[in-house]
Amino acid sequence: GYQKVLEENRKLYNQVQDLKGNIRVYCRIRPFLPGQPTGSSTVEVIDEKTLTVLTPSKYGKGKKSFTFNRVFGPSASQEEVFSDTQPLIRSVLDGYNVCIFAYGQTGSGKTHTMTGPKELTKESIGVNYRALSDLFLISEQRKDSISYDVSVQMIEIYNEQVRDLLATDGVNKRLEIRNNSQNGFNVPSANLVPVTSTTEVLNLMNLGMKHRVVGSTAMNDRSSRSHSCLTVHVQGRDLSSGSILRGCMHLVDLAGSERADKTEAVGDRLKEAQHINRSLSALGDVISSLSQKNSHVPYRNSKLTQLLQDSLGGQAKTLMFIHISPEPNALGETISTLKFAERVSTVELGAARANKESVDVRELKEQIASLKAALMRKE
Ligand code: ADP
Ligand code: MG
Repeated sequence: GYQKVLEENRKLYNQVQDLKGNIRVYCRIRPFLPGQPTGSSTVEVIDEKTLTVLTPSKYGKGKKSFTFNRVFGPSASQEEVFSDTQPLIRSVLDGYNVCIFAYGQTGSGKTHTMTGPKELTKESIGVNYRALSDLFLISEQRKDSISYDVSVQMIEIYNEQVRDLLATDGVNKRLEIRNNSQNGFNVPSANLVPVTSTTEVLNLMNLGMKHRVVGSTAMNDRSSRSHSCLTVHVQGRDLSSGSILRGCMHLVDLAGSERADKTEAVGDRLKEAQHINRSLSALGDVISSLSQKNSHVPYRNSKLTQLLQDSLGGQAKTLMFIHISPEPNALGETISTLKFAERVSTVELGAARANKESVDVRELKEQIASLKAALMRKE
């Protein structure tokens, strides 16, 4: 009797969750660093999903609260930060496309989250390795029914130019993004390396990181001014039917989000900063237009959004790790990062979205009522 109603109810609920769940935003707060000036943090964790930030104004200090799918405080471990990500890995193996981003100002912990600190240990290793490790684990569990091939590419987008970080013949060649029917948007001339173990992946990641550093000097850390993207291509063959499924996962360590006008950049630095600002706002525009379910999504405004076109929106799933620094002197950037996060988030109850949500809930209630009525008639 009511069991059926409950089940039906749960199914509808899951459908709504699925719809809303296409874009998730997690916010991570970096701890104060040893040897750096401390002070009191500008941000405070309220609960699993809420934080407050100081809002300095002429009229005295206030606090503003922000809500995300998850908030991770300064003591959250790498394992904790990754733990909610497993369903995404599963869906790559089910043939979905997935994008995981790290966003934030330089020094806020993007590379820490995605790759880990300089000295990697089992505990400190980041999302990239954990994702690949889970991917191999799950594909192993399924090996009696599906045979998987996994290969990776690693590219960098710097000043709107695409470079291959796994190139064997020089990193500096500029590559093109193409669209073809089988693989969708991709970089066909970037080295595509088949991998069968996490050790192989780790070696490739090291090579890619080394290439990323080649273009920089101590004073000129290029890694903070380019987007790097580790792309994992998965092809699964169903052993009984022979059918093929393809999934793809982009793991993106974005360029630092700090605003150019504040760093008073000139010349090359200014040009880089303008490219970064433009591509990060293009990414923000794409994600916010997806979260508002607009019919036109402006993918074409940057190389980054072109490359990720098949992996943002539609059936794809997106996870954005937002990083903020706790230091008082970072407050301006922290607030602008949180505003960006709020804009791409589906959680915040903006007017349009609040409407959509109440429609969803109303529809659910109506469905439940009519199911109940149908049951009453039968009983
Ligand atoms: P970004 O890539 O955003 O420029 P990094 O990831 O390089 O920033 O982080 C800057 C510094 O802070 C690094 O030394 C890093 O190891 C450290 N760090 C960042 N996040 C954390 C964290 N959650 N816990 C401990 N140290 C962190
Ligand atoms: Mg970095």
